[in-house]
Amino acid sequence: MRPIQMVDTKTQYLRIKQEVDDAVQQVMESSAFINGPAVAAFSQSLSAYLGVKHVIPCANGTDALQIAMMALGLQPGDEVITPSFTYIATTEVIGLLRLKPVFVEVDQHTFCMDPASLRKAITLRTKAIVPVHLYGQSAPMEEILQIAQEHNLFVIEDNAQAIGGRYQFSDGVKKMTGTIGHIGCTSFYPSKNLGAFGDGGAIFTNDDALANRIAMIANHGQSKRYYHDVVGCNSRLDAIQAALLSVKLKYLDSYNLARKTAADFYDQAFASCASLTTPYRAPYADHVFHQYTLLLEGVDRDQLAAFLSERQIPSMIYYPVPGHRQKMFGLSGTSLPDLPVTDWLTERVFSLPIHTELDQEQLAAISGAVLEFIG
Ligand SMILES: *Cc1c(COP(=O)(O)O)cnc(C)c1O
Repeated sequence: MRPIQMVDTKTQYLRIKQEVDDAVQQVMESSAFINGPAVAAFSQSLSAYLGVKHVIPCANGTDALQIAMMALGLQPGDEVITPSFTYIATTEVIGLLRLKPVFVEVDQHTFCMDPASLRKAITLRTKAIVPVHLYGQSAPMEEILQIAQEHNLFVIEDNAQAIGGRYQFSDGVKKMTGTIGHIGCTSFYPSKNLGAFGDGGAIFTNDDALANRIAMIANHGQSKRYYHDVVGCNSRLDAIQAALLSVKLKYLDSYNLARKTAADFYDQAFASCASLTTPYRAPYADHVFHQYTLLLEGVDRDQLAAFLSERQIPSMIYYPVPGHRQKMFGLSGTSLPDLPVTDWLTERVFSLPIHTELDQEQLAAISGAVLEFIG
């Protein structure tokens, strides 16, 4: 059996090696390493794929979130509502910009922002909502948009884990995740569903004025060279990354399908196991399985991880400490929000290897070992 890894970017690369190598070679020969045709071509293909008017590439997903918040003109002290149950980048940039993160609950099935909790958290200082499509499952965007409209709030989607996901509104309208709110942000970190060979990110919007501001902020606050109108930053996608991402974008749907096929295998293997809850699949979107995350009930998580590790099967806890309990936010006592679902999930989530290159033998070995431990 091939060794089992949490992600296998190497095998994925080898399948399209020639195409990727040619694309990268071309950039090296052109010497257009910053911006240039490769970056423009990737932005265009991604915007066509997503059906969104503007794609502004940047250096990574964390920058994408930061630039999005800067472009909306949020001011220190403004409240930004976000789930606590997410990767730290979502909430860290809120703190970095001296905005106030307001942590809300997630739904115990979708692991995404709970609209009821969101509604309760809105105050006169609330300016924006940042739903996260966690593990590849879309947040309930229709309800979130409804609430945002009622209160005139911005919506920034953190789509770092769900690129290629399709969301369906109750009237039948379909949109790609990340193109539903005012701004969408994504990451091309190597292990993401569309991964570069290094860092990368992008920002999406259908709003022309916002797109201009975003592009300007990502480029030192200038729209004309050496004339800097606002304080921005330097956040660019390398041309080499853009060139290989253009190649990989063509395979994104097949990559997401391969992830779903692996998830289907696990679901079936664990279907009759009462102590494992398999990932919920919301009827309004397709899950693109950035992670395959089980909920354990009455199973010792550390012992399970050790048992798997002895058999050379990796596993992960995404994430062991929720945002509201991270020291960086300094919340304690009465300032610590009460998020029982988030805390409950944090103690029970358990992620198995999922990527595009898992074969039946590996999937059988992983699920077999999990079931053997549970007995
Ligand atoms: C990966 C990720 C980010 C940040 O992306 P980087 O490219 O690593 O900066 C943000 N939010 C979520 C939910 C992520 O998974």
